[in-house]
Amino acid sequence: MPTNLELLEQNDPAVFAALRGEEARQRVGIELIPSENYTFPEVLAALGSVFTNKYSEGYPGRRYYGGQEFTDEIENLARDRAKAVFGCEHANVQPLSGSAMNQAVYLGLLEPGDTILAMDLSHGGHLTHGAPVSHMGKMFNFVRYVTDPSDGSIDYDQVRKDALEHKPKLVLCGYTSYPRDIDYEKFKGIADEVGAVSMTDASHFGGLVAGGSMKNPFDFGFDVVTTTTHKSLRGPRGGMVLCRKPFASKIDKSVFPGLQGGPHMNAIAAIAITLQKAQSEEFKQYARQVLINSRTLADALMEKQATLVTGGTDNHMMVVDTVASFGLDGRVAEEALDKVQITTNKQIIPDDPNPPLRPSGIRIGTPAATTRGMVEEDMRQLADWIIKCLQNPEDEASLSQIRDDVEAFCGRFPVPGI
Ligand SMILES: *Cc1c(COP(=O)(O)O)cnc(C)c1O
Repeated sequence: MPTNLELLEQNDPAVFAALRGEEARQRVGIELIPSENYTFPEVLAALGSVFTNKYSEGYPGRRYYGGQEFTDEIENLARDRAKAVFGCEHANVQPLSGSAMNQAVYLGLLEPGDTILAMDLSHGGHLTHGAPVSHMGKMFNFVRYVTDPSDGSIDYDQVRKDALEHKPKLVLCGYTSYPRDIDYEKFKGIADEVGAVSMTDASHFGGLVAGGSMKNPFDFGFDVVTTTTHKSLRGPRGGMVLCRKPFASKIDKSVFPGLQGGPHMNAIAAIAITLQKAQSEEFKQYARQVLINSRTLADALMEKQATLVTGGTDNHMMVVDTVASFGLDGRVAEEALDKVQITTNKQIIPDDPNPPLRPSGIRIGTPAATTRGMVEEDMRQLADWIIKCLQNPEDEASLSQIRDDVEAFCGRFPVPGI
């Protein structure tokens, strides 16, 4: 009997070749996009399993199709583990992605036209935090807070003023490009003062909360926390809505039948696996190392004259102002680093005078590199290569030398699952 992969190779060589190509790409380059990671081999197994065959509309014990003995078991495991890991009263593990999980919260707890206070996209918020191009941005009245121009951090006095002026029904903190931690006590206080629901979108740092190395918003009495499962948490692509009991039934109805049909049971099986891993001592050590690596990389870059937004990092990411540091826009910097197989992403910085496809910075993060086992000395090596590459982005001989060095270096760090 040929294996599933052997069948793929025989019957669809084009897709098989692309799969092998992507495996090689992930092995020979250094992944520094802060939202990416390498998942666990067990997760890959679950994703490619027969759970993908099954329709399970509804929730455990209340399904619209028969044959749910094992799907119920899987979803209950995932929910119980989510509650244990995040210390929360209720978990919905069905959202098909991070975007759907946030939509489910807005649509489930609010009415169209209601006001939401959230971080502006250009200052580090996510598309789903009410960017004008998004459907949610049109459906709800988003008031967007920005960062303090003096140091790039959230201006809590301004957030409070905005809240008192606009009386939001929901106050949202969380970010996609912001290198500092959040003052949850202040956010919760502001939400309480105006009678709003308090929500954290922990999509980026959910794994670091799970691993105990970053603060947990539930410890500050937050109502709702959302997180993707595929970023720092290292699981399959997906999203979870975690909340306090009083919100549970509205959230569940909003995810299904409000927003989605059948959940992806193969992903939910993989989420259950991920959440068991997240409780291990090994994962706690991983979460700590992500932060140590981030701080080490940021310090090494700054020692070599790179300018970082906010002047450093408290989390797993940093934003380099490439115009100020190297006289390069973010797109040129991203492309130069691509040539040496170091993958980053161009990034708008606060009050960026440049357009989104040619912004003034790049965003760098350590979750994926840390999964491969890289530690402090490797971060200093990385900083050397990044600086060399961005100081001479047109020196083909130097770029090709760096690329060879990067490839040889990567040989020492296996990618889980490949
Ligand atoms: C990544 C992210 C999301 C959306 O996740 P997708 O799975 O890409 O839809 C939502 N919010 C924040 C803050 C994110 O960083």
